[in-house]
Amino acid sequence: MQIPCSTIERAIFDKIAFAADELQLPTFLIGGFVRDKIIGRNTKDADIVCLGDGIALAHRVADLFEPRPAVAYFKNFGTAQIKLPEFEIEFVGARKESYQPDSRKPRVEIGSLEDDQNRRDFTINALAISLNKADFGTLIDPFNGLLAIEEKLIKTPLLPEQTFSDDPLRMMRAIRFAAQLNFEIVPETFDAIKAQADRIKIVSQERITDELNKIMLCDKPSKGWDLLFRSGLLAIIFPQMVELHGAEYIDGLGHKDNFYHTLQVIDNISENTDDLWLRWAALLHDIGKPATKQFEEGHGWTFHGHENVGARMVPKIFTRLKLPLNEKMKLVQKLVLLHLRPISLTNENITDSAVRRLLFEAGEDIDALMLLCSADITSKNKYKVKRYLQNFEMVKQRMKEVEESDQMRNWQPPITGGMIMEHFGLTPGKNVGIIKDAIREAILDGLIPNEYEAAYSYMLQKAAELGIQVPNKS
Ligand code: ATP
Ligand code: MG
Repeated sequence: MQIPCSTIERAIFDKIAFAADELQLPTFLIGGFVRDKIIGRNTKDADIVCLGDGIALAHRVADLFEPRPAVAYFKNFGTAQIKLPEFEIEFVGARKESYQPDSRKPRVEIGSLEDDQNRRDFTINALAISLNKADFGTLIDPFNGLLAIEEKLIKTPLLPEQTFSDDPLRMMRAIRFAAQLNFEIVPETFDAIKAQADRIKIVSQERITDELNKIMLCDKPSKGWDLLFRSGLLAIIFPQMVELHGAEYIDGLGHKDNFYHTLQVIDNISENTDDLWLRWAALLHDIGKPATKQFEEGHGWTFHGHENVGARMVPKIFTRLKLPLNEKMKLVQKLVLLHLRPISLTNENITDSAVRRLLFEAGEDIDALMLLCSADITSKNKYKVKRYLQNFEMVKQRMKEVEESDQMRNWQPPITGGMIMEHFGLTPGKNVGIIKDAIREAILDGLIPNEYEAAYSYMLQKAAELGIQVPNKS
């Protein structure tokens, strides 16, 4: 077949073909690159498998480039890697893998191309294309992977139970590929995931979380999260998410299913941002709901304070999932904490002080917060949605006005702690904080204007109330 590739890639493959013939090594393109090219997805790397020494082949290929790229190789694994400016090539000798029940690591032996294709996780990932001159471009497709790509199906080349038991990460990969490519997992394969779900416990958290992040970055992450839920994997790797599932009824009053609501919110926000952390914020925005759920007689279901509880859960969840505990976590936490605020503004009279306070608290992240809030509107009632969105536009407009007059985003009150200490001859202590906070609150509440003069007078007033005198200057 005509290898579907760019001119640059073709030039690279010609070099590999040349080196392979010189070393007399049957050599093939294999795996993700072949799959993605057939589908028409962008690729930045290719895997090469040869019947022989992959490291030697990599070195010979590197010789053919000017300047010669470095070859990173791992003797123990028999793999080598060449990084070109825009493209990475991985080389490996064909291998046979066999798993023992008592060990997670496979026993690896030199194998045939067929052995190597057998060890691949899904039929769509097991396609090989020959690079040797004699049969350049021949597709070797023992498992009908091409048909699976056409039919958009994920299935294992060998018995699925065995495949997943051997390497349980493959269960996460199946779901990630289904979400990424918008493919379906065939029932036999999906049933095997359900049966083997518990085996995921032996996989390292880092590898699991890599897959979760890839699911998060899909066009519709909901597909992956729903499959994780239905397979039983989610209950093991992220039980707090499962708690969101289901709707309870008392006296005919129900609440919405917060799991599927959350999935809708993550899809909504994904239409407007590729930022991984905003997507995590969407996923976690209601995570505090199960813990705060109550039925109030005559009123219905409430989730009072779920944003506070949720924000407190964020560091714990990040720790468990081994997501970074840095400013990204803080951003997610802040968005979870504030996610109701813009909407609550639409319920009441939108006062300048409420808008100012929100702008102050959200600071730089106000745009992110607004993205989350509009994604959070998922009612099935289209009139309700329309009304919410209209209110929302009004809040945005008011924010713009307040922002223009007060510039609250990076706002600092006009009187600092340093100024207070200097004026009253104070050392750092409680009273400085009290005066400083009082000035900030007075401005945010609109009690005094956001100006130096007004803040200065207010400082004197507060200090007098606390019995603080200006020292005599002599
Ligand atoms: P992506 O690069 O988007 O993650 P990919 O299919 O290229 O997708 P890689 O992890 O780069 O995935 O692996 C390359 C190939 O190696 C796969 O296409 C598959 O054939 C094989 N492979 C990777 N991981 C496994 C695994 N856990 N079990 C079996 N085969 C695997
Ligand atoms: Mg890859």
